Amino acid sequence: MIHYPKAIQQAIQELSRLPGIGTKTAERLVMSILRKKRADQTALVTSLANLQKSVQMCTTCGYVTDNSDGICHYCKDPQRGEQTICVVADMQTLQVIEKSGAFKGKYHVLGGTINPIEGISADMLTIASLIRRVQTAKGKIKEVLLATGTDIEGEQTALYIAQHFKTSGIKLTRLARGIPRGSNLEYADEMTLADAITNRQQV
Ligand SMILES: [Zn+2]
Repeated sequence: MIHYPKAIQQAIQELSRLPGIGTKTAERLVMSILRKKRADQTALVTSLANLQKSVQMCTTCGYVTDNSDGICHYCKDPQRGEQTICVVADMQTLQVIEKSGAFKGKYHVLGGTINPIEGISADMLTIASLIRRVQTAKGKIKEVLLATGTDIEGEQTALYIAQHFKTSGIKLTRLARGIPRGSNLEYADEMTLADAITNRQQV
């Protein structure tokens, strides 16, 4: 029977709750942290504490920010057009799109996709705030680009959002084909994504 001090058990438990980290990996991480120099351990602990203290979700789009007014870098950028909102499932997808350089509008980060199997429903995502955002803009937003993945969850989420805007007169677009079927955009390559954005199609 393996015995660990309580603090180690807790650290393993917390780390293994992160995506992609099983108990074995969590255990290895904790052991490696314990072997680090005191200063390195402090730096790690401080950086995690700072995440909680200074980073929040942008109150407009759901991306991360440490600005005191709660508005992120992309929402504040006056060089970005206000007319098109690119709706993405997560921050990683936003970053891939940014790297592709093909999109110069604003973003909206949903915080996931509708997934009944994992118990993620529409009200757990930022869909209501997207609808409010479009309404509040009073006609300034002309297009909502639904850049969720081509997997079942991504398609379902896009459809759900599209239904909400059906009668709004807003142009709804979806990424062009070319993105492999069933894929989570997080891992899409930049060139493919740039093409899919440029050739996006009205839905
Ligand atoms: Zn923002």
